[in-house]
Amino acid sequence: MQTDSLTEEELFCLLKAKRGEDFQYSHILSSMCTTPHPVATKAHSLFMETNLGDPGLFPGTSSLDEEIIRWFANLYQEPSAGGCTTSGGTESNIQVLRFTKASKGSKKPNIIVPASAHFSFEKACGMMDIEMRIAPIDNSYRMDPDVTGELIDKNTCCIVGVAGTTEYGMTDPIPELAKITGQEGVHLHVDAAFGGYVLPFLKNAPSFDFSIPGVDSISVDPHKMGLSTIPSGVLMVRDEKVFCNLLVETPYLTVKQAYSLTGTRPGASIAAAWAVIRYLGIDGYTSLVSGCMENTRRLIEGMEAFGVRRKVTPDVNVATFEHVTVPKPWIVSYTRNGDLRIVCMPHVTRDVVESFLIDFGEFYVPPAH
Ligand SMILES: *Cc1c(COP(=O)(O)O)cnc(C)c1O
Repeated sequence: MQTDSLTEEELFCLLKAKRGEDFQYSHILSSMCTTPHPVATKAHSLFMETNLGDPGLFPGTSSLDEEIIRWFANLYQEPSAGGCTTSGGTESNIQVLRFTKASKGSKKPNIIVPASAHFSFEKACGMMDIEMRIAPIDNSYRMDPDVTGELIDKNTCCIVGVAGTTEYGMTDPIPELAKITGQEGVHLHVDAAFGGYVLPFLKNAPSFDFSIPGVDSISVDPHKMGLSTIPSGVLMVRDEKVFCNLLVETPYLTVKQAYSLTGTRPGASIAAAWAVIRYLGIDGYTSLVSGCMENTRRLIEGMEAFGVRRKVTPDVNVATFEHVTVPKPWIVSYTRNGDLRIVCMPHVTRDVVESFLIDFGEFYVPPAH
């Protein structure tokens, strides 16, 4: 990097060029992030310098934070639930392992996650010296509750079920898992980073929330289907007391104790999450999600018309297919098993799906039989 200073014009000319090297969401079919809602962008810029790490200085921003927690408590059917905002699913999952490990107090702690779990658990276990036991998934790509039960021992501090898996969009059998954890007295965490903004707005969706006795915590990401700005996460807990184990003294801040993982943290993306919640409301999210699900079905139907088989019928807007390559400039992803994966985010509109299908149809050569 050069060391001489630039004029503002030169500076932004360079920045725009760099930004131009990025891919546009219009052709990104692989991401769980999306273009934020315009009200999110506007709210974000209004709260740019707010710091929720020192909430006493920003009582207005903090009250938005608290209102988000209340909104999710009601949405997830436990009005007395507590929670906190985070930077996303990874931090939320780390926090869950921190407090469940602390409350277990075991020298050789372990957790049980499905084979379909997000890689954030591997990071968290590595950081905290926790053994990660992997429960297999069945042929519907859901966690097998019986095997999960067999993996539990006295050192198990947490069992994780996923609501809307990152790769296949499936929801683990949370009620069955809750029965097991209830009997064993183990914490049940539902990782709903993606599905937490989808399933509540769908008819006949699998249940995953606090209406199931035994669900102890739920993580959900506004920066995915919440249409907020990056970074924003929410960690909901049935009983706020779980955070007590994480409290540290913070003498020079406006609050004397804190349990959050990060110190200085953005109020802007949290204000953005609040803005979208208030602007769209339940009805707005319901129609957004129903559009994404409709596009997912259309994509699956279109691909199957070319002879490309779906891997599974997903619970959320993630479509997976047997391995095939796709034409440029489309950007797709492949799962650990090598299956084609397309996330039908809000920017993947019906028109985008149709133009992808046209391009794919012209490009695809079915295997000879
Ligand atoms: C995206 C995702 C995460 C990680 O969230 P980040 O916001 O990327 O840290 C965790 N779990 C699931 C199920 C996810 O889909």
